[in-house]
Amino acid sequence: MQQPLSIKPYITEDQLQKKIAEIGATLTEKFRNKQLIAVCVLKGSFMFYSDLIRQIDADITCEFFGVSSYHGTTSSGEVKVTLDLSKPVEGKHVLLVEDIVDTGITMNYLKNAILSRMPASLTTVALLEKPDALKVPCELDHVGFKISNEFVVGYGLDYEGYYRNLPYIGQVQNFQ
Ligand code: 5GP
Repeated sequence: MQQPLSIKPYITEDQLQKKIAEIGATLTEKFRNKQLIAVCVLKGSFMFYSDLIRQIDADITCEFFGVSSYHGTTSSGEVKVTLDLSKPVEGKHVLLVEDIVDTGITMNYLKNAILSRMPASLTTVALLEKPDALKVPCELDHVGFKISNEFVVGYGLDYEGYYRNLPYIGQVQNFQ
């Protein structure tokens, strides 16, 4: 059952959609008249991904990459692939869409996994980044919001599998 957490709204639906429209416009400029494979990192980025790709005016095909590295509210530091891409990306332009960069370990793993498949280009985008939590250097091409080092839920992000369906990002107030 969903734990009854107290969640303080942190980034509203309106702020999310405005930022996503901005990033979408930038990516449209970059990829206009190009073929693009947009990779959704499961599970956390599914909501951001589906809003973002609707703001990009380019020829897009969709791919899904499943990884897990979290237990409760802490990163295990070990990335497990739960679903691999269904097609080769060699010679293609790839947009990697992640929900949040915390220690940077997952994004680094994903970047290396995709670059080893020889795409024509790789562009990274994360909705959220926690700069104070980085443990490995992690360059991102596009970031929605830089946030403090606190655990957030909603808009695809979970706590123990729950809260992904909140339409906004919230900060959890009452962890034991
Ligand atoms: P990293 O490898 O950068 O430490 O962690 C990346 C993954 O950890 C994200 O894709 C996300 O699934 C999870 N994660 C990191 N910080 C948070 C957070 O504040 N809230 C939630 N719900 N997940 C997080």
